[in-house]
Amino acid sequence: MSERFFRQARTMKTPEEELSRLTEQGLHRSLRPVTSPDLPDVTLAGRRVINFSSNDYLGFAQHPKLIEAASKALRDYGTGSTASRLVSGSLDIFHQLEEKIATGKKAEAALTFANGYATAMGVIPAIVGKGDTVILDKLAHACLIDAARLSGATLRVFPHNDVTKLEKLLISGKDRTLIVTESVFSMDGDLCPLRNIVSLKEKYGALLLLDEAHAVGILGSNGQGLAEELGQQDQVDFQMGTLGKALGSAGGYIAASRAWIDLFINKARSFIYSTAPPPSQAAASIAALDLLSSPEGSQIRQRLLAHCQQFQSTTPIIPKIMGGNEAALSASSTLLEKGFLVPAIRYPTVPRGTARLRITLSAAHDSGHVRQLQDALSNGRPALKISNS
Ligand SMILES: *Cc1c(COP(=O)(O)O)cnc(C)c1O
Repeated sequence: MSERFFRQARTMKTPEEELSRLTEQGLHRSLRPVTSPDLPDVTLAGRRVINFSSNDYLGFAQHPKLIEAASKALRDYGTGSTASRLVSGSLDIFHQLEEKIATGKKAEAALTFANGYATAMGVIPAIVGKGDTVILDKLAHACLIDAARLSGATLRVFPHNDVTKLEKLLISGKDRTLIVTESVFSMDGDLCPLRNIVSLKEKYGALLLLDEAHAVGILGSNGQGLAEELGQQDQVDFQMGTLGKALGSAGGYIAASRAWIDLFINKARSFIYSTAPPPSQAAASIAALDLLSSPEGSQIRQRLLAHCQQFQSTTPIIPKIMGGNEAALSASSTLLEKGFLVPAIRYPTVPRGTARLRITLSAAHDSGHVRQLQDALSNGRPALKISNS
């Protein structure tokens, strides 16, 4: 016992030591205060730079309709929901939002959470537990991995988008098997082979959770994501997403059958043991969904898709893989000097050795911004001049 105790005592590190280790590895992170709205440019350390790092793909976070809806809800309901949903915080506005989400997803029901992370942490452990299996794409988002670990189910990982390997992990059986993947991968901007995954899940009687965090607002005839685009919404058991990216608000959701949603209400701990989000957040989300399905919304989406085409990309997430952490950091700071905010993304957000620049496009950019960034990336051209106002 004492030997074990000493081994632990010897290896116990101070936070300062951990931080300097991160710095040595080029993995240290710090916060940069932003003192202005997010798009198309931000004020960072007193300088205005064009922001190519926001997930506000449609520029909705600054849209007057969302701001007005949130302001009205603030006046009508106040600032907080004051209790968890199951106690007395289940304001009618959350029910309206959930009905709207369910309709868009062609699902029987939907449930909202404080954010996407809390959604995963609540639902995955409610779907699977000890004795069950979760099979994840290797590049699945951290919240999906954390939730799968928390569930206590057996974890299996298949190489990114490799359906042959996925099939090898699938065995028909009486225990639940849940396949978890994303429709648009957050750090790569590529799509999952949804049709193939759906056929496999049907063949083996597995369940499928599809995280559409970066596909909503972009893909699908109504901007509902990849499942809508491929007409597969009925085949996906759990359509997950966030209201905090293209929808410009905050919150997470899951759409599924009525029975599953009722089970989540009874079992998802991040839903049960947490104060309901502010009603203004739900109001902004409702306005965002209305805007998305309006003619104005499709015009905004067209503008984003035109920017994507300028980069010959299907999605507004464009990775430039640099490999080493230092290379990615230095490319990012060179762009910053030229007036563009493009973050370096490093381990553990992406696998080791694949540090990258992650460019995100938004309808709030104009085509000039996009061209200027392309020039800056292809080197040499003059820095962008942004007037300070
Ligand atoms: C951002 C993200 C989440 C988390 O959503 P939040 O609302 O930001 O907590 C979940 N999944 C994926 C794929 C994401 O990119």
